[in-house]
Amino acid sequence: MQSLESEESYVGNLYQRFPVSIIKGKGCKVWDTNGREYLDCMGGYGVALVGHCNDRVVQAITEQCHELITCHMSVYNEVRLRFLKKFNSIAPKNLQSTFFTNSGTEAVEAALKFSRKFTGKSGIIALNGGYHGKTFGSLSVTYNEKYRKSFLPLLEGVKFISYSEVESISEIVTRSESNIGTIIVEPIQGETGIIMPPPNFLKSIREICTAKGLVLIFDEIQSGLGRTGKMWAGQHWDVEPDIMCLAKGVAGGVPMGLATMRPEILNSLKIGEHSSTFAGNPLACAAGSAAIDALVEDGLVTNSEKVGKIFKDGLIKLKENHKIIRDVRGLGMMLGVEMRFDVKDILLDGINHGILLLYSGRNILRLLPPLVMNEEEVNKSLQLIEILIQKEEKRRFG
Ligand SMILES: *Cc1c(COP(=O)(O)O)cnc(C)c1O
Repeated sequence: MQSLESEESYVGNLYQRFPVSIIKGKGCKVWDTNGREYLDCMGGYGVALVGHCNDRVVQAITEQCHELITCHMSVYNEVRLRFLKKFNSIAPKNLQSTFFTNSGTEAVEAALKFSRKFTGKSGIIALNGGYHGKTFGSLSVTYNEKYRKSFLPLLEGVKFISYSEVESISEIVTRSESNIGTIIVEPIQGETGIIMPPPNFLKSIREICTAKGLVLIFDEIQSGLGRTGKMWAGQHWDVEPDIMCLAKGVAGGVPMGLATMRPEILNSLKIGEHSSTFAGNPLACAAGSAAIDALVEDGLVTNSEKVGKIFKDGLIKLKENHKIIRDVRGLGMMLGVEMRFDVKDILLDGINHGILLLYSGRNILRLLPPLVMNEEEVNKSLQLIEILIQKEEKRRFG
């Protein structure tokens, strides 16, 4: 456990960290420096979407790194083209132009800039509870005060609304001083605790955006690529955005993000108005193609739906037997368990019991397991979570 203390002295204190040092991963499992095995329901924060060290991804990057690792967007590359064609075959049908980034927050930055250029309007509507990243532009549409307060002033003209205020959007947009051109939402809010939108919400904002000529951005960085049991979370409500942001698992664990959009939006920008040095590099594109192959050819989206349902049903059963669980929600492999208390001890105790879990806020357990998880691994996870909950009840009530 030497790496625990020594790493701390180099990287400051920016992350809520768990006392475990991971050196190996395969599928839904990871191993620490002592050879102890863990079921990874944290899924590398959602990045290990197609499983740790997915065979297809390992093979693709191994082959690619012998051919070409870097290749700027100013020159053409076949590996990139292969990814783009493959990606468009799974992308929402009207979103066929893509800007590559290297992370989620950069995908959101690009989306916000492109929408401003296309609409000529600087005002943005974002959602209470929304999370879109922590660079200045993304932070401006991220709701949590804790992330924002030390970095003001942020972008002007951002208006946060609650789900129930959807009716007031038209009125806000009509006020000329609001200058609204963009609405940005996560179809399902991840960071805030797996918050589902009211049934008609996404359809309503789609209609408003279409009627008023606003650009609708879906941040599917966490919910996209099969995570919720459909390729895109927006599909659960049959709604397609004008721009969609992706990152996290899009390249099987290799850093990559992208914003994909209606071509006229991307075409409204001129040469040099936005760029990124690493954008569309062949290593990430090779990994991205392999990750899409895994999703499509290995049936991972279907597995996410099927196994995710078993997982959720199991959690609902736990809720019936354990009063400290207040709510279970989510779709596919994007699940949240809201507790009546702080979940910190459960997470730490999870490490002792060989399971990695994630939190949302203080009292919500978030589960973002790899989509390759099988029924047996779900049942094992449920057993472990029940043990952790029983121990938490003992701690609370004796
Ligand atoms: C993780 C996440 C981001 C930020 O992505 P980074 O790669 O950490 O910048 C943005 N939006 C959502 C919905 C996310 O889950």
